[in-house]
Amino acid sequence: MSLPTELLERPHLYIKGAWVPAASGRPGIDVDDPSTGTRLGGVADAGPADAIRAVDAAADALPAWSATSPRERAEILRECFAVMMRNRDTLAGLMRAENGKTLADALGEVDYAAEFFRWFSEEAVRIGGDLRLAPSGANRILVQQQPVGVSLLITPWNFPAAMATRKLAPALAAGCTTVLKPSELTPLTAYLVAELMTEAGVPPGVVNVITSTENPVVVAGMLHDPRVRKLSFTGSTAVGRLLLAQAADQIVSCSMELGGNAPFIVLPDADVEQAVDGLMVAKMRNGGQACTAANRVYAHAAVRDRVVAELSRRMGELVVGTTCAPVITAAARDRIVSLVGGAVRGGASVVTGGRSADRPGWYVEPTVVDATPPGSEMMRTEIFGPVAAVAAFTDVDEVVAAANATPYGLAAYVYTGDLRAGLALADRIEAGMVAVNRGLVSDPAAPFGGVKQSGLGREGGRHGIEEFLETKYVAVAW
Ligand code: NAD
Repeated sequence: MSLPTELLERPHLYIKGAWVPAASGRPGIDVDDPSTGTRLGGVADAGPADAIRAVDAAADALPAWSATSPRERAEILRECFAVMMRNRDTLAGLMRAENGKTLADALGEVDYAAEFFRWFSEEAVRIGGDLRLAPSGANRILVQQQPVGVSLLITPWNFPAAMATRKLAPALAAGCTTVLKPSELTPLTAYLVAELMTEAGVPPGVVNVITSTENPVVVAGMLHDPRVRKLSFTGSTAVGRLLLAQAADQIVSCSMELGGNAPFIVLPDADVEQAVDGLMVAKMRNGGQACTAANRVYAHAAVRDRVVAELSRRMGELVVGTTCAPVITAAARDRIVSLVGGAVRGGASVVTGGRSADRPGWYVEPTVVDATPPGSEMMRTEIFGPVAAVAAFTDVDEVVAAANATPYGLAAYVYTGDLRAGLALADRIEAGMVAVNRGLVSDPAAPFGGVKQSGLGREGGRHGIEEFLETKYVAVAW
């Protein structure tokens, strides 16, 4: 699909519903196509003054937007869903170009991203409250929920549309106004999403988008502006930790969706075919570049050989450049290949793949590594690529200990023929989300989030809107 130049060249920032030049005066940021390794387009490079201008716009728009009726906000969000679906192919084409993901993954992401608008249009009119008699009988306790205020939304490159709408939709449903700062690696999608939202009726200033190469300074400036009351961040644990410390200065409310290291456990009574079907989804969705990606495959010794054989067959069938997408940068490709090398030096064996692909663009061969040592870097960090690391286990206590031996706790997967055993295992795994006999956890109607160093708070479900609401209690006598 050929994309119009105006979607690829975005020399201005999107502030107050208009395109404005960056005051930083710096040349723009180049955006590359990972499938070719060449320049695709470019965006403006905001400095600290630009960021404050975006906060000004969001703060100016807040009184009117927070005073709209829930029904009005709901109708606008429902229209955002419709407009996004009408532009499904264009948005998918743009994501495919700047992120490298397969067309199937890109189309799937548009559907997932749009669904947050529909879901939160339905939640906008269901914001709760409470009224009760004080135990003393002297007064009533009236509890209401109000929008938290100007919200800073920071998103990663791996799901450029869905990570944005997962924040924008609940923020707007709650009555908040926003500054969205997408990753500079995939910024084009965010600008198009903002345009589509404007087309759907979102008023100027409610959604502002800035991109920058100077993220530490630009973001710190906004977090120290007393008008910014909320930070909703999705990205790595390292950056999340840094931003939590900065947010502490003004006691900014924080929601954090951070890194993961998901175990994928196959119990001896599992249907191996079905388990590998699920594993292919859990491992290869978005080319392995998902925070929920199966990072450590623990197969019971009784089924391990069959799991490895079937997985290797399926991974071997993927075609680099079509069904196996590139990774995001050349550095990411080199890091993944070096993780494989480290595991092999530690005693693991490569069953299939294992190298970068000899072609333009940033590709890693679909890879299966067996007998991966527990202490290897590959088992301890997010692989974030098309590499499955397998290890065997012999009893449930052992696999629970191994699954939990990580500072992360985002997603986990269990395959078993015995649902009771699966649910008992789900209870014992330290993760915010556990999939039992399923390779996908993401669902706009379900609470998404992690425990331990994988994050704070939840997105989606009925929980997602709560993150953008503040509770106010009024003691009233009548
Ligand atoms: P990242 O942490 O490098 O960047 C995330 C965002 O923070 C980007 O917008 C980036 O520009 C910005 N940023 C980077 N350094 C900054 C700084 N010093 N100050 C302020 N802002 C800064 O993450 P990434 O590489 O874009 O994304 C991959 C990571 O995101 C992985 O760890 C993945 O697990 C995680 N992730 C988590 C979820 C989730 O829901 N838990 C979802 C998707 C991705």
